[in-house]
Amino acid sequence: MPRRSQSVNQDLYTRGGIITERDPDFCIVRLRMPAGMITPAQMKGLGEIAARHGIESLHLTTRQTMELPHVDPSILEELVDDLEANGTPLGAEREEIVNVTSCLGNRHCKFGIIDSVGLAEEIDKKFFGKELPVKVRIAISACPNGCESERLNEIGITGIQKPIRDPGLCTGCGTCTYYCREKAIDVQDGLVVVTTAKCMECGFCILPCPFHIIQGAPPEYRITVGGHRGRHPLIGRHLVDVKLPEDVIRVVDKIVYWIYRQASTGSLLPEQLEELDFEKFKKEINSIVQ
Ligand code: SF4
Ligand code: SF4
Ligand code: SF4
Repeated sequence: MPRRSQSVNQDLYTRGGIITERDPDFCIVRLRMPAGMITPAQMKGLGEIAARHGIESLHLTTRQTMELPHVDPSILEELVDDLEANGTPLGAEREEIVNVTSCLGNRHCKFGIIDSVGLAEEIDKKFFGKELPVKVRIAISACPNGCESERLNEIGITGIQKPIRDPGLCTGCGTCTYYCREKAIDVQDGLVVVTTAKCMECGFCILPCPFHIIQGAPPEYRITVGGHRGRHPLIGRHLVDVKLPEDVIRVVDKIVYWIYRQASTGSLLPEQLEELDFEKFKKEINSIVQ
């Protein structure tokens, strides 16, 4: 692509979704695409925008968005306007809340316990791009299979569901033991015994019971904090389980405020959890939402 001579909009150039390329005369433009959802019209629009601006390829990122490589910074203003009009606006990548990711959840996946896509869209609306001392990634998996690796994010949300059995009606047929991947269920003397410490609350044993005696408790949302991918992967710590999407929004709001007030720039959130007195924060959150 030929170099252009127009000036560069510096305010735009320093925004989070613009990443300086290996060749510093060019940049990568990352998009905001909550839950990785995109309509066919937006997809077509992206192709047209790329062609119009001489962008040869688009890249799918690990965090469910797309980026446009090798962009001449002098066309940024026009490009960003086009992206906004297409409903695929500029993303974020600095010390801020970046693209919220999610699996397809109970809209399409047979294992989905919660509407993770709807929740990701709500979280995006309220928190996307909020500037913080550290980068915060939020990811949601609609069941403990964890396809979204949500616990490897600063904030992870997992859909869970407890199975509830009526022991008086259990025939001891053992079908549910076959479906439990955690080997949490045993049949002893014709009665089911669940080792709760092994149970991940995936709910996978509920439907297969041929006698329909296992009920699913209402879905819940397990929230973890302080996970991280990259050079030093870490699994987030369990913060709290809540019952409603509104509760999740409240808890995320508290976490974001806590990070905003107490975290500092220069190290990752997981490295700061001890200094930030995570256990005290956990107690506070539990007292608020229980
Ligand atoms: S995490 Fe669970 S609900 Fe989400 S895609 Fe994986 S199996 Fe399906
Ligand atoms: S909810 Fe999942 S882990 Fe727990 S007993 Fe049932 S199948 Fe096993
Ligand atoms: S499948 Fe149902 S009836 Fe059979 S052991 Fe499990 S809970 Fe009991």
